[in-house]
Amino acid sequence: MKDSLFKLLELQEIDNQVDALDRARRDYPAQIALIDQEIEEARKQIQEQHAKREDLEKTQRYHERELTAANADLKKHQDRLYEVKTNREYDALQVEIETCRGRVSEHENAFLAAEGALEELTPAIKSLEEGCAEVENDRLKNRESLSQRLNSIGADVDQHQERREAVRVHILPQVLAAYDRFRKGKSGLGVVRLAKGACGGCFQKIPPQRASEVRRNNRIILCESCGRILVWDGT
Ligand SMILES: [Zn+2]
Repeated sequence: MKDSLFKLLELQEIDNQVDALDRARRDYPAQIALIDQEIEEARKQIQEQHAKREDLEKTQRYHERELTAANADLKKHQDRLYEVKTNREYDALQVEIETCRGRVSEHENAFLAAEGALEELTPAIKSLEEGCAEVENDRLKNRESLSQRLNSIGADVDQHQERREAVRVHILPQVLAAYDRFRKGKSGLGVVRLAKGACGGCFQKIPPQRASEVRRNNRIILCESCGRILVWDGT
Protein backbone atom coordinates (compact mmCIF):
# COMPACT_ATOMS: atom_id res chain seq x y z
CA MET A 1 0.00 0.00 0.00
CA LYS A 2 2.75 2.41 0.99
CA ASP A 3 4.54 1.98 -2.36
CA SER A 4 1.27 2.46 -4.20
CA LEU A 5 0.63 5.72 -2.38
CA PHE A 6 4.15 6.98 -3.08
CA LYS A 7 3.81 6.00 -6.74
CA LEU A 8 0.51 7.83 -6.74
CA LEU A 9 2.31 11.07 -5.89
CA GLU A 10 4.61 10.40 -8.83
CA LEU A 11 1.61 9.75 -11.08
CA GLN A 12 0.03 12.98 -9.95
CA GLU A 13 3.15 14.92 -11.03
CA ILE A 14 2.99 13.36 -14.49
CA ASP A 15 -0.76 13.97 -14.75
CA ASN A 16 -0.21 17.61 -13.77
CA GLN A 17 2.24 17.95 -16.65
CA VAL A 18 -0.13 16.24 -19.09
CA ASP A 19 -2.98 18.48 -17.92
CA ALA A 20 -0.82 21.59 -18.42
CA LEU A 21 0.09 20.40 -21.93
CA ASP A 22 -3.57 19.77 -22.73
CA ARG A 23 -4.48 23.25 -21.51
CA ALA A 24 -1.71 24.73 -23.65
CA ARG A 25 -2.90 22.73 -26.66
CA ARG A 26 -6.33 24.26 -26.17
CA ASP A 27 -5.17 27.80 -25.38
CA TYR A 28 -2.25 28.40 -27.77
CA PRO A 29 -4.24 28.54 -31.02
CA ALA A 30 -6.45 31.30 -29.56
CA GLN A 31 -3.37 33.17 -28.32
CA ILE A 32 -1.76 32.87 -31.76
CA ALA A 33 -4.96 34.11 -33.42
CA LEU A 34 -5.03 37.07 -31.05
CA ILE A 35 -1.45 38.00 -31.93
CA ASP A 36 -2.30 37.79 -35.65
CA GLN A 37 -5.28 40.04 -35.07
CA GLU A 38 -3.21 42.60 -33.16
CA ILE A 39 -0.59 42.66 -35.91
CA GLU A 40 -3.26 43.10 -38.55
CA GLU A 41 -4.90 45.95 -36.64
CA ALA A 42 -1.59 47.75 -36.19
CA ARG A 43 -0.85 47.42 -39.91
CA LYS A 44 -4.32 48.68 -40.76
CA GLN A 45 -3.77 51.72 -38.56
CA ILE A 46 -0.57 52.53 -40.48
CA GLN A 47 -2.32 52.02 -43.81
CA GLU A 48 -5.03 54.47 -42.74
CA GLN A 49 -2.42 57.09 -41.90
CA HIS A 50 -0.74 56.52 -45.27
CA ALA A 51 -4.07 56.99 -47.04
CA LYS A 52 -4.61 60.20 -45.06
CA ARG A 53 -1.18 61.45 -46.16
CA GLU A 54 -1.89 60.63 -49.81
CA ASP A 55 -5.19 62.53 -49.61
CA LEU A 56 -3.42 65.55 -48.15
CA GLU A 57 -0.74 65.42 -50.85
CA LYS A 58 -3.42 65.21 -53.51
CA THR A 59 -5.27 68.19 -51.98
CA GLN A 60 -2.02 70.12 -51.82
CA ARG A 61 -1.23 69.44 -55.50
CA TYR A 62 -4.76 70.47 -56.50
CA HIS A 63 -4.53 73.82 -54.70
CA GLU A 64 -1.05 74.36 -56.09
CA ARG A 65 -2.37 74.01 -59.65
CA GLU A 66 -5.39 76.20 -58.91
CA LEU A 67 -3.15 78.82 -57.30
CA THR A 68 -0.92 78.96 -60.40
CA ALA A 69 -3.98 79.35 -62.61
CA ALA A 70 -5.51 82.03 -60.36
CA ASN A 71 -2.24 83.97 -60.29
CA ALA A 72 -2.04 83.82 -64.10
CA ASP A 73 -5.63 85.07 -64.37
CA LEU A 74 -4.91 87.86 -61.93
CA LYS A 75 -1.87 88.98 -63.92
CA LYS A 76 -3.84 88.85 -67.17
CA HIS A 77 -6.57 91.05 -65.72
CA GLN A 78 -4.09 93.44 -64.14
CA ASP A 79 -2.29 93.84 -67.51
CA ARG A 80 -5.59 94.80 -69.11
CA LEU A 81 -5.99 97.72 -66.68
CA TYR A 82 -3.61 99.70 -68.94
CA GLU A 83 -5.72 99.07 -71.98
CA VAL A 84 -9.19 100.09 -70.74
CA LYS A 85 -10.68 103.26 -72.04
CA THR A 86 -13.78 103.92 -69.96
CA ASN A 87 -14.51 104.13 -66.26
CA ARG A 88 -17.16 101.48 -66.65
CA GLU A 89 -14.71 99.07 -68.23
CA TYR A 90 -12.22 99.92 -65.49
CA ASP A 91 -14.74 99.24 -62.72
CA ALA A 92 -15.79 95.94 -64.28
CA LEU A 93 -12.16 94.89 -64.54
CA GLN A 94 -11.53 95.84 -60.90
CA VAL A 95 -14.38 93.54 -59.88
CA GLU A 96 -12.81 90.68 -61.83
CA ILE A 97 -9.41 91.40 -60.33
CA GLU A 98 -10.93 91.25 -56.85
CA THR A 99 -12.49 87.89 -57.73
CA CYS A 100 -9.08 86.64 -58.91
CA ARG A 101 -7.46 87.86 -55.70
CA GLY A 102 -10.12 86.00 -53.75
CA ARG A 103 -9.31 82.80 -55.64
CA VAL A 104 -5.58 83.27 -55.11
CA SER A 105 -6.01 83.74 -51.37
CA GLU A 106 -8.47 80.85 -51.09
CA HIS A 107 -6.11 78.37 -52.79
CA GLU A 108 -3.09 79.75 -51.03
CA ASN A 109 -4.72 79.21 -47.63
CA ALA A 110 -5.92 75.73 -48.56
CA PHE A 111 -2.43 74.85 -49.86
CA LEU A 112 -0.81 76.06 -46.64
CA ALA A 113 -3.36 74.22 -44.49
CA ALA A 114 -2.58 70.94 -46.31
CA GLU A 115 1.13 71.64 -45.99
CA GLY A 116 0.79 72.27 -42.24
CA ALA A 117 -1.23 69.07 -41.76
CA LEU A 118 1.40 67.10 -43.70
CA GLU A 119 4.18 68.56 -41.58
CA GLU A 120 2.43 67.22 -38.49
CA LEU A 121 1.38 63.92 -40.00
CA THR A 122 4.70 62.82 -41.49
CA PRO A 123 6.65 62.56 -38.19
CA ALA A 124 3.55 61.09 -36.49
CA ILE A 125 3.48 58.30 -39.11
CA LYS A 126 7.19 57.72 -38.67
CA SER A 127 6.94 57.29 -34.91
CA LEU A 128 3.83 55.12 -35.32
CA GLU A 129 5.71 52.90 -37.77
CA GLU A 130 8.73 52.64 -35.49
CA GLY A 131 6.55 51.81 -32.47
CA CYS A 132 4.59 49.25 -34.46
CA ALA A 133 7.72 47.63 -35.86
CA GLU A 134 9.04 47.14 -32.34
CA VAL A 135 5.77 45.73 -31.01
CA GLU A 136 5.31 43.58 -34.11
CA ASN A 137 8.79 42.16 -33.66
CA ASP A 138 7.98 41.14 -30.09
CA ARG A 139 4.63 39.73 -31.15
CA LEU A 140 6.17 37.68 -33.96
CA LYS A 141 8.77 36.26 -31.58
CA ASN A 142 6.05 35.37 -29.11
CA ARG A 143 3.98 33.84 -31.90
CA GLU A 144 6.93 31.81 -33.12
CA SER A 145 7.63 30.38 -29.67
CA LEU A 146 3.92 29.55 -29.17
CA SER A 147 3.81 27.74 -32.53
CA GLN A 148 6.98 25.82 -31.74
CA ARG A 149 5.63 24.79 -28.35
CA LEU A 150 2.30 23.85 -29.91
CA ASN A 151 4.06 21.67 -32.48
CA SER A 152 6.07 19.83 -29.85
CA ILE A 153 3.15 19.29 -27.45
CA GLY A 154 1.95 16.14 -29.21
CA ALA A 155 5.32 14.43 -28.78
CA ASP A 156 5.57 15.64 -25.17
CA VAL A 157 2.14 14.24 -24.34
CA ASP A 158 3.07 10.87 -25.88
CA GLN A 159 6.23 10.80 -23.80
CA HIS A 160 4.34 11.63 -20.62
CA GLN A 161 1.69 9.02 -21.40
CA GLU A 162 4.40 6.36 -21.61
CA ARG A 163 5.83 7.41 -18.24
CA ARG A 164 2.29 7.53 -16.89
CA GLU A 165 1.57 3.94 -17.91
CA ALA A 166 4.92 2.81 -16.50
CA VAL A 167 4.02 4.30 -13.11
CA ARG A 168 0.40 3.12 -13.10
CA VAL A 169 1.36 -0.58 -13.30
CA HIS A 170 3.03 -0.25 -9.88
CA ILE A 171 -0.09 1.03 -8.18
CA LEU A 172 -2.78 -1.17 -6.60
CA PRO A 173 -6.00 -1.17 -8.69
CA GLN A 174 -8.22 0.09 -5.84
CA VAL A 175 -5.83 2.99 -5.22
CA LEU A 176 -5.79 3.87 -8.91
CA ALA A 177 -9.58 3.70 -9.12
CA ALA A 178 -9.93 6.02 -6.12
CA TYR A 179 -7.38 8.44 -7.55
CA ASP A 180 -9.02 8.52 -10.99
CA ARG A 181 -12.39 9.12 -9.35
CA PHE A 182 -11.23 11.86 -6.93
CA ARG A 183 -9.19 13.66 -9.57
CA LYS A 184 -12.34 14.64 -11.44
CA GLY A 185 -13.74 18.02 -10.52
CA LYS A 186 -10.77 18.84 -8.26
CA SER A 187 -8.71 20.73 -10.88
CA GLY A 188 -7.03 17.42 -11.66
CA LEU A 189 -5.55 17.06 -8.19
CA GLY A 190 -6.55 13.69 -6.71
CA VAL A 191 -3.72 13.06 -4.28
CA VAL A 192 -1.88 15.50 -2.05
CA ARG A 193 0.82 15.41 0.60
CA LEU A 194 0.21 15.81 4.27
CA ALA A 195 2.59 18.64 5.10
CA LYS A 196 3.05 20.23 8.53
CA GLY A 197 -0.17 18.63 9.69
CA ALA A 198 -2.23 20.23 6.89
CA CYS A 199 -3.73 19.05 3.59
CA GLY A 200 -1.49 19.96 0.64
CA GLY A 201 -4.59 20.55 -1.53
CA CYS A 202 -6.86 22.81 0.52
CA PHE A 203 -4.37 23.66 3.34
CA GLN A 204 -6.87 22.79 6.07
CA LYS A 205 -5.38 21.45 9.31
CA ILE A 206 -5.88 17.70 9.62
CA PRO A 207 -6.98 16.56 13.11
CA PRO A 208 -3.99 14.94 14.92
CA GLN A 209 -5.65 11.54 15.19
CA ARG A 210 -6.35 11.47 11.45
CA ALA A 211 -2.90 12.84 10.66
CA SER A 212 -1.27 9.91 12.49
CA GLU A 213 -3.43 7.53 10.48
CA VAL A 214 -2.27 9.21 7.29
CA ARG A 215 1.36 8.87 8.38
CA ARG A 216 0.95 5.10 8.55
CA ASN A 217 0.28 5.09 4.78
CA ASN A 218 -1.48 1.74 5.02
CA ARG A 219 -4.89 2.69 3.65
CA ILE A 220 -6.62 5.35 1.60
CA ILE A 221 -7.50 8.34 3.76
CA LEU A 222 -9.21 11.38 2.34
CA CYS A 223 -9.04 14.99 3.45
CA GLU A 224 -12.43 15.63 5.04
CA SER A 225 -12.44 19.14 3.72
CA CYS A 226 -11.55 18.71 0.00
CA GLY A 227 -11.96 14.95 -0.50
CA ARG A 228 -8.44 14.31 -1.88
CA ILE A 229 -6.29 11.32 -1.00
CA LEU A 230 -3.72 12.23 1.64
CA VAL A 231 -0.23 10.74 1.54
CA TRP A 232 2.63 11.33 3.94
CA ASP A 233 6.07 11.08 2.38
CA GLY A 234 8.01 12.20 5.41
CA THR A 235 8.24 15.91 4.63
ZN1 LIG B 1 -7.92 19.06 1.68
